[in-house]
Amino acid sequence: MFAPQEVIFAPTSQCNLHCAHCRVTRSADRLDVKAAIRFLESCNDGGIDRVGFSGGEPFLRVDFLSALTRAAVERGMLFDRLMTNGVWHGDIGALREGLAAVENAGFDGVYGLSIDSWHQQDQEKLIQFIQTAFELRGRRDCVEILSVQARDEGPCLEKLRAIAGAFDGELELARHGGEPRCISDLAWRGRPQTGEDLPGALFIDIHRFPYSAAMSPEGEGGDPGAEAARARPWSDEEWFEDDLCAGPGNVFYVHPCGDVAACCGFANENAGLILGNIMSDGYDELMAKAAQSPQVLTCYGSGIGSLRLRLEAKGFAFPGKTADQCYFCDWCAKKALFSE
Ligand code: SF4
Ligand code: SF4
Repeated sequence: MFAPQEVIFAPTSQCNLHCAHCRVTRSADRLDVKAAIRFLESCNDGGIDRVGFSGGEPFLRVDFLSALTRAAVERGMLFDRLMTNGVWHGDIGALREGLAAVENAGFDGVYGLSIDSWHQQDQEKLIQFIQTAFELRGRRDCVEILSVQARDEGPCLEKLRAIAGAFDGELELARHGGEPRCISDLAWRGRPQTGEDLPGALFIDIHRFPYSAAMSPEGEGGDPGAEAARARPWSDEEWFEDDLCAGPGNVFYVHPCGDVAACCGFANENAGLILGNIMSDGYDELMAKAAQSPQVLTCYGSGIGSLRLRLEAKGFAFPGKTADQCYFCDWCAKKALFSE
């Protein structure tokens, strides 16, 4: 059942980059600090003790990050990831100022840097970000990399190698079934002086995710990445394995307009996953609405695979098979199939 463990705030959908695979709908909406703190407290009263940030580029709202961080610290809450592209700053001064504001407010979570073939960041700025984060935190376990696979992995690996080199390290391509590009445990570690895994060695996890066809309309149409993980969204050999949303599920995701989704996966702009709005709803109200939501009940309860079986039993024919559970969720939501 839906049992949110974390609240993730997306204070803005604005971003300094325009990545080809971006699924965020941009608007002028900006999360209100007071309303967000009120909601944070309500979530904490409801039993949620973890906070994260996403966007858009959240560092475009340093005011919000600092205020919410302070409020979370006052409550003794834990921090998860603050997602960032790492290149939002104009110059090193702006970078230091923004990062210091968040660090000084008490943020001790992880900076989740998006680095892959899609993000066209300036390499030197990325290095600046990592160096400054290390310096201000006073330790080097505060950065990890999240990375979406692409058909052409060259630019991604090139960038990662260059960054590793800047820290006198190297990119380590862990083996995963003999296929380095499918790995989820690709890791980059600094070259140890006297052996492997020295406590002081630099080690940054790189989490790799398959490109989802849902990131472009029906996964096709001019987007070179549409073929990255699967050529067409419905061309997989097997159906997805239902995990009851163990991946991006079980969070309250607060969109810049204040709408709260029951998931941080890419289907989370669908009306069926929006439970309410922080201007009018707190933890209890949203949980009550979640208990009535066909999409939430299906995804977290009976499993989204049960929807497929139910529809097939009624004679519904899908375009093919997809191994991507969240793509299936998004597709069914857009076709209003959860209430069938
Ligand atoms: S950095 Fe993130 S939010 Fe910004 S355009 Fe790229 S994918 Fe979208
Ligand atoms: S299946 Fe749907 S609700 Fe579950 S994590 Fe994926 S997008 Fe979110």
